[in-house]
Amino acid sequence: MIIRKAIWPRTLSDFFSMSFILTIVPIIYWFELWVVLPATYKHDSLSYTLNFLFGNFIMINIVGNFTYTIFCDTSTRRDIMPISAANTKDGWRLCTTCETLAPPRSWHCPTCNVCILKRDHHCIFTGCCIGHFNHRYFIMLLLYLFVATTYSFYYNNFFIWSRVRFEFPMSIIKIVLPLAIFVFGFDGSINQFYLLLYIVSVVGMLYTGVLCIYHVSLVLNGNVANESNKRIRTYDLGWKQNIKEVFGERWYLTWLLPYIKSQLPHNGIIWTTSNSWQCTNPKRK
Ligand SMILES: [Zn+2]
Ligand SMILES: [Zn+2]
Repeated sequence: MIIRKAIWPRTLSDFFSMSFILTIVPIIYWFELWVVLPATYKHDSLSYTLNFLFGNFIMINIVGNFTYTIFCDTSTRRDIMPISAANTKDGWRLCTTCETLAPPRSWHCPTCNVCILKRDHHCIFTGCCIGHFNHRYFIMLLLYLFVATTYSFYYNNFFIWSRVRFEFPMSIIKIVLPLAIFVFGFDGSINQFYLLLYIVSVVGMLYTGVLCIYHVSLVLNGNVANESNKRIRTYDLGWKQNIKEVFGERWYLTWLLPYIKSQLPHNGIIWTTSNSWQCTNPKRK
């Protein structure tokens, strides 16, 4: 992996979104494992230990995949472009901002100010672009954030509704508009702070759930966001191979930890198209 050096957020929206994630994730982690879990199970029980271990396993994956997404350089700067292979028929183009030839599937990011290999989108929560070499970590980060918030939601319901009385319609207003807690009376009790964390994790669950559906369907179709919008299906190699294109040859192990190596089939510059893939693998599509 080539390390990206300029990791600091470049815009205000990147800065605030990254700061939000870097603040809220540790707070929710503390809330779940040091407040909700001890209130749910006894310290010496097997359920406590299993949930504690599972919670930490999820957190390691969130932190690991977040770090890898940010530090992995997926720009065209990482490699010396094989300019001799450049051919406009294959999708090579001239990037007037970088003043260089850029390979197929790469797009220029105005925020990162560089062309990104197989660019999917610029993610404000990681302050960087999602492209060929960090796509795997981004998808895993999303999946683990969704697992974490859904898992929290299950236990938080028992915890919060045993402490906070549900009053209609005030509770609904507080849930739909979290800041209403402060407007309609924040009595300073720790339970209201817990209710706020409960609401944030519910919103997080819905948000990451929608993003998971969108991004996983793009992966299964062998697309990135830009290609999907333009209905380009040039690189759809069948769902099994499409998974390998993002998660690598050892795709079945990548959910375990981000540190597990899994070689990607392509270098991000020269691509196999659906047509050439069908010719070489007629039965696999
Ligand atoms: Zn460029
Ligand atoms: Zn970018």
